[in-house]
Amino acid sequence: VESVLPSTNTALKKRISNSPHNLADGDAVLAEVQTAGRGRHGRSWLAPVGGSLTFSMYWSFPDGYQSMAGLSLLVGLAVCEGLRKVGIDDTQLKWPNDVYLQGRKLAGILIEVEGQIGATAHCVIGIGLNVTMPDGQYDVGQPYSDLAGYLGHVPDRNDVAAHIIEALWSMLPKFAQQGFGPFAAHWQATDLFADKRIVLQMGEKRFVGIDRGVDASGALLVETEDGISRFHGGEVSLRGH
Ligand code: ATP
Repeated sequence: VESVLPSTNTALKKRISNSPHNLADGDAVLAEVQTAGRGRHGRSWLAPVGGSLTFSMYWSFPDGYQSMAGLSLLVGLAVCEGLRKVGIDDTQLKWPNDVYLQGRKLAGILIEVEGQIGATAHCVIGIGLNVTMPDGQYDVGQPYSDLAGYLGHVPDRNDVAAHIIEALWSMLPKFAQQGFGPFAAHWQATDLFADKRIVLQMGEKRFVGIDRGVDASGALLVETEDGISRFHGGEVSLRGH
């Protein structure tokens, strides 16, 4: 646990590149305050002082990148599982990497790979979650929610972190062995846009269709009149339509 870090993902990535052999799967870096949190595509993650839970976990994948397909979805499920233990059972997931509460963004997930040594991919799982971030006080470019606003009291951040870390520890070994397939039905049951019209934005390109869940690799299945198309994470951003 550190008091102030620019980014827990960056700190953990440095540890991997300096001394990967000193890390074990499930090791985590937590910061009291994160000053320069990152999202995907170089976007920033806002974490007000004392109001946010920010941490990163290390995991290694001996079979390389391909065995990580669907990881951000699995991590979303683990966040929901951990939150269930503190009395929150109606979170939803937005493909591929966001956790929603009351229809607004509660947490973001950023998966990064710090190189591959031999066949093994060394992976950093970053989570930023709003604990006390009163509605209307911050501009993050989209609606957000926080645990305190939902629960009516400020939960213990350590308690929330411990439950999410435990859920990750219990789900990641199965994921590393069997992939995302065994979790796909559970993910679909938690999908914010299940059977709804959605827009996928890929750079300048837009794709409109109906969200029909995910396959065993975590790819999103989108139905149009031409049939079902599959989308993999990467450059895609998703909105309701
Ligand atoms: P999007 O959430 O827009 O579909 P994304 O999943 O690629 O895109 P992330 O990389 O997870 O986004 O997170 C970055 C985005 O999250 C920022 O562009 C900002 O709109 C939003 N954001 C930043 N900080 C917070 C926060 N504390 N709570 C909720 N949303 C935030």
